[in-house]
Amino acid sequence: MSVFTIRLTFHCDLGFFRGSRPGGEIVERTLGENTSVKDVIESCGVPHPEIGLILLDGQPVNFAHVVEKDAMVDVYPVQSLPTQFEKHRLQTCRITRFVADGHLGKLARNLRLLGFDVAYDHQAQDRQLLGVMENENRALLTRDRRLLMHAIVEAGYCPRSQNPDEQTIEVIRRFDLFDSIAPFTRCLRCNAPLQEVAKADVIEKLEPLTKIYYERFRRCTGCGQIYWAGSHFSQLQKRLDEIYARFAARDA
Ligand SMILES: [Zn+2]
Repeated sequence: MSVFTIRLTFHCDLGFFRGSRPGGEIVERTLGENTSVKDVIESCGVPHPEIGLILLDGQPVNFAHVVEKDAMVDVYPVQSLPTQFEKHRLQTCRITRFVADGHLGKLARNLRLLGFDVAYDHQAQDRQLLGVMENENRALLTRDRRLLMHAIVEAGYCPRSQNPDEQTIEVIRRFDLFDSIAPFTRCLRCNAPLQEVAKADVIEKLEPLTKIYYERFRRCTGCGQIYWAGSHFSQLQKRLDEIYARFAARDA
């Protein structure tokens, strides 16, 4: 079989996975056997869940498409797609359920604060993360790009930033979550939904000053933790305000 050459262009921020600047790095791969376009792309370090569209010599193809001769391949991230080829997008844009890997505890907490359903166990092994992802139909959040390349991963995202607030904004953008934000509706400890409760129902568990000063309470339907608009919410509101402010700064 003859040898052929694939020239790949990684558009926009996919350069992150190549350690290069954003915007159009070209990589050449010489192949001696027919190979799926997914394998060619991942051999360059870019995980498939990050890819929103592939054009082969200008025409859209799916991950399984086999490359067998010289070709130009354009690879686009989910967030920066050309307006045409809408039917050939490779990822679901909007997903609201996640599983976060053990290194992303602060991101998981931020997302729960915003009301999103995030499975998180700081001791979870790769196998468990993939299991939760598959069984509970969640998108995988991890900075481990090898894990993201695992064949069973359908939806996932690798936060570019190491800063949890920036990561939170990245996830909101990638999965189109801004309109679904519902602060203070989910337990930060166990991820279960919170429910409004009457003061009378929780009064026995409250500290004396809390009993005097606060009227509105929510209780976790999972672990029973009680939240009120004092110590918890005011600190968390500050955190939310910071996230919103960063969001606005990025939009400007
Ligand atoms: Zn809870």
